[in-house]
Amino acid sequence: MRIAFIAGNWKLNKTRPEARALVEALKPLVANAKAEVAVCPPFTALETVGALLTGSNIRLGAQNCCHEPSGAFTGEVSPPMLKDLGCDYCIVGHSERRQYFGETDEGVNKKAKALLAAGIKPILCVGETLAQREANETEKVVERQVCGAYAGLSAADALQTVVAYEPVWAIGTGRNATPQQAQDAHKFIRGLLAKLYDQATAGAVRIQYGGSMKPSNAAELLSQPDVDGGLIGGASLKAEDFAGIVNAAP
Ligand code: PEP
Repeated sequence: MRIAFIAGNWKLNKTRPEARALVEALKPLVANAKAEVAVCPPFTALETVGALLTGSNIRLGAQNCCHEPSGAFTGEVSPPMLKDLGCDYCIVGHSERRQYFGETDEGVNKKAKALLAAGIKPILCVGETLAQREANETEKVVERQVCGAYAGLSAADALQTVVAYEPVWAIGTGRNATPQQAQDAHKFIRGLLAKLYDQATAGAVRIQYGGSMKPSNAAELLSQPDVDGGLIGGASLKAEDFAGIVNAAP
């Protein structure tokens, strides 16, 4: 039985006062959620938000990390530093990082290993572009990304991970995947995990959908059998919208 997991990716948004206001508004709205809930603020707001989340049912996540624990890596933030701030999760390989910051499948794998070593659960993002979908390459691309992300990870490691299937054409566009498109991709990813590991492991790993999820389309997407939650961008910046999605989870 997989418990739905809804995580908010705040991206490059929210100063500390803004972050404080969002979290204070969100806490009572999701206090009775059946789903697991997390927010992923920018690095600069992690400590502020983490302090406000103490004693709540909302977990803290980061949006990125360094692949090394410490050393001469100017400008980076490491998994042990994120653990120190109270992070339980960290997004890795978001398409914006792949597109604008040159993140590769190999880099995603290194970050996943570094996070697991620090006791943080990676949220591993995969998904095809519109051109790749139109060229019927969705499965090929997603297979490359999933196999790359999990290279060298044991089944026990895999149980500590979450996959986020985020078709790039659906992110921030207002055009979500249909429930059937999401279900097909999620089922395919679960099949890949079964091939890499075993049925029990594949059946236990949660696969979130991400891409223009909002309160009005959440229930239908989240009711698909292999859709185990959502990674939410734009709609996570408004407490009512994010709570609407959280409370739509079965
Ligand atoms: C995301 O960036 O992870 C995302 C899903 O964005 P949005 O919900 O805005 O499409």
